[in-house]
This record gives sequence, C-alpha cells and structure tokens, in this order.
Amino acid sequence: MINAEAIRLVRHMECGKAGCACHSGRKHGPYYVLSNRSGGRGSYSYLDPGEAARVRTLVLRYREFRRGLQRLQKVNVELVSLLRRYQQAQLRRTGVKLGAGVVART
Ligand SMILES: [Zn+2]
Repeated sequence: MINAEAIRLVRHMECGKAGCACHSGRKHGPYYVLSNRSGGRGSYSYLDPGEAARVRTLVLRYREFRRGLQRLQKVNVELVSLLRRYQQAQLRRTGVKLGAGVVART
C-alpha cells in the first residue's frame, strides 16, 4: 500500500555512475518517478507523463484533505474544551451537570 504522506514525484535524477555529468547538475530525465519512502523502506515506479499529472493532482488533493482534517481536529479540541467550561459553569450555577444523561438526584 502506498503511503500518500511520503509520495514524491521526481523528474530529474542522478544515476549511480561515478563521474557522470548528472552529479554536477545535468541530471537525467525528465522521468516521472513515484517514490514512496517511509520508515527507511522505499519503493518507486515509473509513470508516463499523463499518469504523473494525474498522480500530482491526487497528491495535492490528498494534502489539502489532510490540512482540512487537521483544522477540523483543532476546532474539535477547542469545541470540547469550551463545552467542558460551559458544563462546569452550568453545574456551578444550577447544580445540574449537562450532557451527563439522566442524573439521579439523591
Ligand atoms: Zn548519470
């Protein structure tokens, strides 16, 4: 399974040959390589330009989704915190704990 967090699209590459011009700036390519590295393990696959464009779009959308999800989590934490403050204020004022279901009065 691809870890979308770690996906990178690489266009120009350096090879393993010592003294090759690619090591002094003139890299090989363009190739579209989908590289996926996580926890030291990596895998890669070559894409044609059409696939590369599609993957780039998907990766951008995924990152946007992740940003949105993080914002949502932050808002949720704030909401829970405000709700707790509100519950405590209500409890102090009325003696009734909100959101605790049916409260048995003794
Ligand atoms: Zn080279």
